[in-house]
Amino acid sequence: MFCVECGKKGKTYNGLCLECYIKKHKFFDFPSEIKIEFCKSCNSYRIDNQWKKGDIHKDIKEYLKKNVKGEIKHEVSFDENNILKIKGFFEGRYIEVEKEIKVNEKYVTCPKCSLRRGGYYEAIIQLRGKYKKMFDEVDELIKKRVEERESYITKIEDVRGGKDYYIGNKKIAERIAKEIKDDFSGTIKSSKSLVRVKDGKKIYRYTYSIRFLEYEGKFIKIDGKIYKVKSAGKKLELYGIDGEIRNVYREEIKNAVEMDIEERDATLLHEEKDTLYVMDSRSYRTFVVNKPKKWKKGKNIKIIEYEGKIYAVDGDE
Ligand SMILES: [Zn+2]
Ligand SMILES: [Zn+2]
Repeated sequence: MFCVECGKKGKTYNGLCLECYIKKHKFFDFPSEIKIEFCKSCNSYRIDNQWKKGDIHKDIKEYLKKNVKGEIKHEVSFDENNILKIKGFFEGRYIEVEKEIKVNEKYVTCPKCSLRRGGYYEAIIQLRGKYKKMFDEVDELIKKRVEERESYITKIEDVRGGKDYYIGNKKIAERIAKEIKDDFSGTIKSSKSLVRVKDGKKIYRYTYSIRFLEYEGKFIKIDGKIYKVKSAGKKLELYGIDGEIRNVYREEIKNAVEMDIEERDATLLHEEKDTLYVMDSRSYRTFVVNKPKKWKKGKNIKIIEYEGKIYAVDGDE
């Protein structure tokens, strides 16, 4: 056979010799441009009809890989300069195609941001309790989880007795509420209210109300020792009346006994290295007591009575 193009004798492909065939034939079919929508309000983008976040270059490469159709086995690469390279072999000959891919950018508002802007939310997480440290830790947790799970917070409201978080997605809010309850030992109450009926379907709004068990400032007994609960977050800081300081998870004090111990004011008379001379503000009697570990001059001091003995404890700031 002869090549219809150059007249060379030999094996032909569609009437062409191998040289001419490789020169003229299109082995690969691929998009030469790609449309990407970027959200004006967050860092997500839409590629291949899907909203994503993260590594856009990698996502473009994936898209191209998926959309390159080849007659022969091939490899696809895509570099920083948006150059697409397709490589393969035909009859032992190396075939390479290079093409700059045009990225068409469009700026819009993604569906998630549109919903958030419209104030849309499906659930409220209510935190009820007193302690600032706990609230700060939970606040951090909620924001982190909402971000990780691709939802959003419409608003955060300080209300009497706590804080309310308006969350875009109900399922995500429910999971976060459960995690808070487990990690910070609280009780949870769920409820729903009918918002409206749309096309015969009832739309509900869900509320997860978490009440934290309150330990802070209380005296508890663990392993026969008395501690004052100094601060309570995910972990509790315990100050033993014998001077020991312990940090425990809420789990660990499940079996602790709450003690009915009353603190009362005392006046500092004299301070030594490890001891304090104090006067009971009620009875005006004076006592020599061990200095609490974290106590510093200038901070007020309180005393408690336990099993007939007087102990000094750190007063609150
Ligand atoms: Zn030829
Ligand atoms: Zn967005």
